[in-house]
Amino acid sequence: MPLRDPSNRVLVVGAGPVGLITALGLASKGVPVLVIEHEPALTEDLRAGSFHPPTMEMMGPLGITERFLKIGIQVPRWQIRDRHTGVVAEFDLGLLADITPYPYRFHCEQFKLTPIALDLLRQYPHAEIRFSTGFETATQDANGITATVTTPGGSEEIRAAWLVGADGGRSQVRKTMNVDFPGYTWPDRFLVAGTRYDLKPHGYTPNAYIADPDRFSAIFQMPYDRPPGLWRVLFSVNSDVSEAELLSDDNIERLMQGLLARPERYDIVHKSIYKVHQRVAATFRVGRMLLAGDAAHVNNPLGAMGLNGGIHDACNLYPKLAAVFRGEADASLLDRYVRQRHAAQIEFVQELSTRNKRLLEERDPKVRAERLDEVRQTGADPKRAREFLIKSSMIASIRRAETIE
Ligand SMILES: Cc1cc2nc3c(=O)[nH]c(=O)nc-3n(C[C@H](O)[C@H](O)[C@H](O)COP(=O)(O)OP(=O)(O)OC[C@H]3O[C@@H](n4cnc5c(N)ncnc54)[C@H](O)[C@@H]3O)c2cc1C
Repeated sequence: MPLRDPSNRVLVVGAGPVGLITALGLASKGVPVLVIEHEPALTEDLRAGSFHPPTMEMMGPLGITERFLKIGIQVPRWQIRDRHTGVVAEFDLGLLADITPYPYRFHCEQFKLTPIALDLLRQYPHAEIRFSTGFETATQDANGITATVTTPGGSEEIRAAWLVGADGGRSQVRKTMNVDFPGYTWPDRFLVAGTRYDLKPHGYTPNAYIADPDRFSAIFQMPYDRPPGLWRVLFSVNSDVSEAELLSDDNIERLMQGLLARPERYDIVHKSIYKVHQRVAATFRVGRMLLAGDAAHVNNPLGAMGLNGGIHDACNLYPKLAAVFRGEADASLLDRYVRQRHAAQIEFVQELSTRNKRLLEERDPKVRAERLDEVRQTGADPKRAREFLIKSSMIASIRRAETIE
């Protein structure tokens, strides 16, 4: 098959939220893009779904936020709780109303975001998406990259000026770039159970974190298919027990009753289990190949910073890559992307998500009491609560990245 002009497009690997938003951003700047996705269609699994104010702001100019707002839940208040004693602190994002037009967390399933991004992308004649096309490997030279992909018709070569790997935590692009992914995997696993039973009348905010040295939890109310939506409850569970046993109806019932006892059984309409990692790629760029989203970093979901951080990568990268593509900036501008987003990951996302997990699972009664007391005091003081919210809503990580040249 003849190779196309390498200077004519950017190849984005992966049609997850990060790949699609990167591609949409590039297309909005007039850059021809080709997105390849190895699945035959967009994936529909229930994963992330809690969006922070800066993410809503960044997706605005791309046309996503306006459409997204119509289908999700605004969550202005969220709690940190103790499983035995109840609410420790309730945080009100209204304290940030002077610095963001979106003073709330926004809850909507990840699989409802990607069709919006894809629909908007398809409105650009210079954007193309190919499903059932899996990235295998790539070589690069002075002018571009040549990627080998698998398609239902066999192997194919694709030529592009730049390649963005947004192909998730197990990124084949990252492996091809030969980039290390240092970090660790948590010993416990995370089990998520989704119930239609409404937890709101029991005092739970649509987002809540519940400390417990034996089994901490986190709660996210999602719009799902109809009100009151789906209350997704995440539990940390012991890795020594088999997956089948952990996911059994009786075990999930026991976990749910442990969270909130009720005479009836819970109606569980969704369940899943996964391992959680804390890892950041050593670099997000090797020549003409770049990484973004889970391909570049992974973290535990406590604080909802994984997907948000990935979208922040996409929105930092696309204007820079568009400028380089059009010859308006030197390629070294892409190293600024790496410096900014790597620092945001290390100094904020990894640090805060790890601290959140430690807070919820702390076993030492003295340390536990001290930490929860500090949370209580922070929640009770509007000035401290505001500072805390600026950090936990990822505004501080964006501000910090902006200071990096
Ligand atoms: C099982 C699971 C549960 C999660 N639950 C939560 C949660 O509850 N809360 C939370 O905050 N975060 C959660 N996350 C994390 C969150 O979903 C991710 O941060 C987010 O999906 C990252 O988006 P992404 O676009 O970078 O990667 P992904 O969404 O993983 O998208 C990558 C895309 O690349 C495609 N792809 C992969 N390899 C190739 C290839 N070789 N060629 C072409 N295409 C390829 C994939 O099919 C996929 O469509 C979860 C992640 C997983 C894996």
